[in-house]
Amino acid sequence: MPFDRAPQPHPPEEMIPLDDPESGLRGVIVLHSTALGPAAGGCRVWRYENDREAARDALRLAEGMSYKNALAGLPFGGGKAVICQPAGAFDRQALFRAFGRAVASLNGRYVTAEDVGTSVEDMLTVAETTRHVAGLPNKLGAPGGDPSPWTALGVCRAMQVAVRRRLGTDLQGVTVAVQGLGHVGFALCELLHRAGARLIVAEPRAAVAARAAALFGAEVVTSHKLLAAEADVFAPCALGAVLDMAAVKRLRATVVCGAANNQLAMPQQGVDLAARGVLYCPDYVVNAGGIVSVAAEHFGWSLAEARKRVEGIGLRLAEVLDHADGGGMAPNEAADSLAQSLIAGKRPTSLAA
Ligand code: NAD
Repeated sequence: MPFDRAPQPHPPEEMIPLDDPESGLRGVIVLHSTALGPAAGGCRVWRYENDREAARDALRLAEGMSYKNALAGLPFGGGKAVICQPAGAFDRQALFRAFGRAVASLNGRYVTAEDVGTSVEDMLTVAETTRHVAGLPNKLGAPGGDPSPWTALGVCRAMQVAVRRRLGTDLQGVTVAVQGLGHVGFALCELLHRAGARLIVAEPRAAVAARAAALFGAEVVTSHKLLAAEADVFAPCALGAVLDMAAVKRLRATVVCGAANNQLAMPQQGVDLAARGVLYCPDYVVNAGGIVSVAAEHFGWSLAEARKRVEGIGLRLAEVLDHADGGGMAPNEAADSLAQSLIAGKRPTSLAA
C-alpha cells in the first residue's frame, strides 16, 4: 500500500502495510504512539475507495486513540487497523487469521479489538493467531466482551458533571435528546431514565424507537428535528461529523455530551459552540468507557477497578473543562492540549474516581 499522504502535525511512529493476497487482506496498521504503552485501538473494516483513503482514515483514527487513551489515564498508546473490505465473496475467517498474524508480528506493540465492521466473532478468529487482542467474550466475573454498557456509563457520568456545571442541577427533570439507539444509545437511555431525565430520541429502526417510547416514555422524532428539539442536552450516539456549521446554528441544547466518535465536523465547530454558550464535552473524553473495558480485559483488572475508572470519566471531563476555562480555550482544544502534554510526559495519569 503506498502511504501517499499529506504531512500530519503529529506523525505516527510507524505504519505497517497489510497485504496478504491469499486471504484478500489489504489495509494498514498505524502505531501512532507507544509512549504510554502498547498502541491500542480497534480494527475497522470498510469499503474504502482506495489505499490512500484507507491510510488517511487509519492515521486520523490512530491519533484519536492516542489522545483518548492518554486522557483515560490508561497505560496504552494509540493505534488503529483498517482493512479494505474485499470486493465480492471472501473467506472471513482466513482474512482475520491473516490479520492476527500481522498483529502477532508486532510482538505486543499493538493491541487490537472490535470497531466498525468487526465483531466479537471476528476477534475470536484473530485470537487464533495472536494473543494481542481484546473484546473477547468475558469470562465469568471478569471485564471483557461488549464494551457498550461501559461506554454508556462513562457518558452518563460525564453528562452529570456537564449538567451540574451548565444548569446547576442533577439529571432529574432534565431533557436529553439522544441521537441513535444502538448499543450505546439504548443503554444510555436506560441510565438517563433511571436518573429521572426526560428523553427525546431519534432512531431510524422504528421498532427500536418504539421500544424506547414504551420502556422510557421517550418522545420519538426524526434525526433532523432532534437538533432543534426543546432539550437541555444533545447526546449524539450515532454518526460522526454531526456537528457541522448548520447543525451548530440549529442546536437548541446548551450541553452536548454523547458517545459518537468525531462529533465535530471540524475543530472550528468546537469554538463556534463555545461562542454560542454551548458546553461541548469532547467526544473522546466522555466515550472512553469502552476502551477502559478493553484495557481491563487486556491487563487483567477486576470489574471493580474497571468500574472505578469509568466512573472517573466525569472527573476527567471536569479537569478538561477547567483547563479550557483557565486557558481561554474551547473544550476540544483543551482536551487535545492536555492529551498532547500527557503523551509528551510519557506518563499515564490515572483517573481519580
Ligand atoms: P451502533 O451501530 O450499535 O448504533 C448506532 C445507532 O445509530 C443505530 O441504532 C442506527 O440505527 C442509528 N442511526 C444511524 N443513523 C442515524 C441517524 N441519522 N439518526 C439517528 N440514529 C441513527 O453503534 P454503537 O456501538 O452504539 O456506537 C454509537 C457511536 O458511539 C458510534 O459513533 C461509535 O463509534 C461510538 N462509540 C461506541 C463505543 C462502544 O463501546 N460501542 C465506544 C466509543 C465510541
